[in-house]
Amino acid sequence: MTSESTETNAGVTDKNSPSPVSFAETALRLGGKSEEEATRTGAIDQADDHVEAMFQPQYQTVSSPIHRAVWDRSLPVELFQASEVETDEDVQTVMDNSVELVRRHKEQGTLLDENKKVSEAMLDELGGVGYWGLLVDREHGGSGASFRSFAPFLTRMALVDGNIAGLASVHGCIGAVDPVRTFGSEEQKQRFLPGLASGERLSAFALTEPGAGSDLTALKTRAERNGDHFLVNGEKLFITNAVPGRTIGLVCLVDDSPAVLICELPDEENDQVQFNKYGLYALKQQYNQGIIFKDFKVPVDNLLKPVRGTGLTIAYHGLNLGRIALCAISAASMRIMMAGMLPWAQYRYTYGEKIAHRELVQRRLGRLAGLIVACDALVAWGSSLIDQGYRGEMECIIAKIFGSEMGKEAAIELCMKTHGGRSFLHGHLIGDNIHEYLAPCIYEGEGEMLGMAFFKSLVKHHGTRFFEPVGKALQAAGIKKPNMLNPRHAWALKGVLGPYAGWMAGQYLWPRSWSQLPPMPESLKQHATFAIDQLQKSAKQISGTMRKHQLKLADRQCRMSELSSRIQSLVVMLCTSLYAANQQDEVVVDAADVLCQQITLELTGRRTPDSFYRDITRLGATVAEGGFASLTGLEPGEILMNY
Ligand SMILES: Cc1cc2nc3c(=O)[nH]c(=O)nc-3n(C[C@H](O)[C@H](O)[C@H](O)COP(=O)(O)OP(=O)(O)OC[C@H]3O[C@@H](n4cnc5c(N)ncnc54)[C@H](O)[C@@H]3O)c2cc1C
Repeated sequence: MTSESTETNAGVTDKNSPSPVSFAETALRLGGKSEEEATRTGAIDQADDHVEAMFQPQYQTVSSPIHRAVWDRSLPVELFQASEVETDEDVQTVMDNSVELVRRHKEQGTLLDENKKVSEAMLDELGGVGYWGLLVDREHGGSGASFRSFAPFLTRMALVDGNIAGLASVHGCIGAVDPVRTFGSEEQKQRFLPGLASGERLSAFALTEPGAGSDLTALKTRAERNGDHFLVNGEKLFITNAVPGRTIGLVCLVDDSPAVLICELPDEENDQVQFNKYGLYALKQQYNQGIIFKDFKVPVDNLLKPVRGTGLTIAYHGLNLGRIALCAISAASMRIMMAGMLPWAQYRYTYGEKIAHRELVQRRLGRLAGLIVACDALVAWGSSLIDQGYRGEMECIIAKIFGSEMGKEAAIELCMKTHGGRSFLHGHLIGDNIHEYLAPCIYEGEGEMLGMAFFKSLVKHHGTRFFEPVGKALQAAGIKKPNMLNPRHAWALKGVLGPYAGWMAGQYLWPRSWSQLPPMPESLKQHATFAIDQLQKSAKQISGTMRKHQLKLADRQCRMSELSSRIQSLVVMLCTSLYAANQQDEVVVDAADVLCQQITLELTGRRTPDSFYRDITRLGATVAEGGFASLTGLEPGEILMNY
């Protein structure tokens, strides 16, 4: 399916429309939170409900693979398998030409300008070969690549240059392309998309403000109507690709409600638009600046009007794609790290032996191989779901958290430690890029905050169905702490506990049905079986936690975070084992196996057996000898301070 399928499935039906007060808001209010906190959290939750309502019921969160894996009576294995990449010829040509162009400029040293930023000439040339229009449909001047081909293509591009790959995500996923193509009227699409596709207008996404990052309800930038224009006032911070002449998707308040305005920034700073320039360690080859608006005029026709919801609804939609893109780029960064570790591990002798022969180094290489395969698996799976029309909220969050956290681990625990002191030399991959490897943990949502969002999505339906009625009954009876031995309390809850008791009985009395796995190597089959079993058992664990903390659960962040990462690890395990089972390369199978063994050890808390060390070091030794095929074509890293 093409990327348009996302739009096709974004049909709104009344029966899907969210209720006026969200579950989170109700729960916080019942739990005794301040009116401000309840309303603010409710606004975020409602934006989420509105995104949800855009999708047909079979593609909404309750029908998503992860939700079903935990709450359904059998886990739908087929929903954890990635579809094949099918790239049509025109799209393939755009992709090949784009990679070739960047490679050539890199070799000729013409990628960056005098400020050491990706040069405008380079960006223009990429427009000429169709790079910026990959995600724009053909009707509006692009080539209409499916997300399933686009996402792994970003890994390929990032192997040549991570910044150019990152800019494609900023422009196509979180920038103006996705908001216009998904939420724009036909007139807006015709007006904006051709310029965005050709790269005449590259784009950015401006959400964060000095006082509003994790808390998006604190937005202050405001657009006030003045005839056929809005006048925008306020300040944005940390905006990637914010330079004069760009088009931005600006999230700001219109009539006190978050909205998205498509703004064409002037070609030069003026009294209405100023850039706040600061030193930033991350994204050093791109522009990342603040923008200060003073009575900046934007035509009223540039306001995007989602059928339901607000600007936050639009923001959430694009962020999902960006999260898979981030994981795809991380898969490339880790390959580059590996390509740098291999020659060094062969070159460096200590105590008369090359370090490539040492277990600790082999273990790092084995681990790195597993992380790369898992990132590839998440990208393949997540992008398949997006093309099938799934909302993919939780699935995209996993890709983002895993991609960024493992990128950080790879840089610090695996790559830096193996290179020793040379890691800190100018010209070294780690020394020069450490902030590039750390920043993904923060942008597009900090990992632990996203982990809680993941958990909230997972429990929302269960909570609304079983716990909200209980909370409301308690509130109506004025009971703060229920005690079932107290007849008044039991009476107050008589009508609302039955459905939950029925659900609980089902969990204990009827075994879950067996999920049929496809043919796969025995080692991977064991991992997939473990993951399925644990995912299915987690319904009782999560529900138990909800029962225990009830309306105070929102305050039990550490527990939510722990449960969330557990589920995430199991999903990574299931996807990676299914993905690797489909690959022909035995090293990929072994890499998936060691990664899954490690996850099992973490989740069960067992001591590491010798057999695991044997497996991971054997894999590492194979990788050290050049056995990891997907590094083919990558330049081996340079050895600094050779002797
Ligand atoms: C390199 C880079 C590029 C970026 N590009 C863009 C861009 O293009 N467009 C854009 O709009 N933004 C961009 N950002 C901004 C980025 O999305 C935000 O930095 C991020 O969302 C976190 O917001 P914050 O920095 O304001 O963190 P804060 O809101 O200050 O939060 C700091 C930390 O406090 C903790 N915290 C906050 N609230 C809670 C809570 N309720 N419970 C528990 N813990 C909490 C979390 O650990 C959080 O990470 C970029 C940032 C960077 C660094």
